[in-house]
Amino acid sequence: MMEKKEGLIFIIDDNPEDRRTLREHLLKDLESSYRIVEEETGERTLALCKQVKPDCILLDYDLPDMNGLEFLAALEDGTGSMPYPVVILTSVSNEPIAIQALQQGAQDYMVKGKITTESLHRAIRNAIERVDMLRTLEAQRKVLELKNQELQAFAYALAHDLRAPLRAISGFAHIVHHDYQSVLDSEGQSYMDTIVKACSQMDHLIDDLLNYTRIEHKAVRYQPVALQSLVNQIIESMAEHINATSASVNIVDALPVVQGDRTLLSQIFINLLENALTYQREGVPPRITIDCQEEAHSYIIGVHDNGIGIAAKDHERIFTIFQRLHSDEEYAGTGIGLAIVKKSVDLMDGQVWVESAEGKGSTFYVRLPR
Ligand code: ADP
Repeated sequence: MMEKKEGLIFIIDDNPEDRRTLREHLLKDLESSYRIVEEETGERTLALCKQVKPDCILLDYDLPDMNGLEFLAALEDGTGSMPYPVVILTSVSNEPIAIQALQQGAQDYMVKGKITTESLHRAIRNAIERVDMLRTLEAQRKVLELKNQELQAFAYALAHDLRAPLRAISGFAHIVHHDYQSVLDSEGQSYMDTIVKACSQMDHLIDDLLNYTRIEHKAVRYQPVALQSLVNQIIESMAEHINATSASVNIVDALPVVQGDRTLLSQIFINLLENALTYQREGVPPRITIDCQEEAHSYIIGVHDNGIGIAAKDHERIFTIFQRLHSDEEYAGTGIGLAIVKKSVDLMDGQVWVESAEGKGSTFYVRLPR
């Protein structure tokens, strides 16, 4: 004979007649043998749940001290998930309540007059299975999160430790490049040139990687940030790049004070402006404008350029780390800048997207909550 599964069921109902009916249904289950605990109030059940873990709770919606939704809210474990499977029982069919109960974490909803032995067994089994599945998923999510954190920590340590040997290579390459020019023939000098350039590229890559991994671990510190002065400071700090490319950068709307994280906001505008200066059309000086639209719940800041533009098929993937559309010979870069922008915007519950077509310039939009 098939061995019966065991389970602990709480029947929470202040009506003894209803409790008896439910108990009788449960005792007829051929696949499971249930231990049954009965309670009449929400408070006592919540206290009981702290001592004993039920496999499933059959909950009358109208308890003397609270309703089913209040019970679910009190049972919720603070992470938004329900610790135990709950099946809500009502005396009359009430669809809005059913929907709300399911949204609040109940696994099922049944109308008392329509419950049959089979439908009750099925509801309990489904509820238990579903909560088991959610628990497994949650455990897997935690493992993945941990692995991701380990990977980030590894990338950070690696980037950090690569710095010292790179400094040594770069420093000595510079010395040979400058002090031993007379000893090296032109081929030797060109090799040294290449080493110095490669060192500088790797230095940028390490800087960007460190920035990216730092952001990954960063706790967001909200404070009022005056974007106008922040962006002006960033533009000033880019004077060399702006002059070298004969660019103009104009803020055409007064930028607002936003509730955000200063470091993340800086990273967003540094990277967007660096790109707007970098991806210029040959012989066409960059013309960059920054504007702002106000919506009911957000600000949308646009960074427009007149550069080479981006084909529609690449609009999504450029925000992924290491995705570049050009070789280093065409445009130097690391493929990390927009990933930093995306991460920063996500951390502040914002959005970033691009509107652009090849050869037509690009506009990067950043939406920040008000
Ligand atoms: P990087 O600039 O270091 O390559 P990003 O992550 O900042 O890395 O950008 C990814 C890619 O997106 C760039 O390689 C470039 O092809 C494209 N891109 C970014 N900004 C612009 C822009 N303003 N105009 C045209 N292309 C851009």
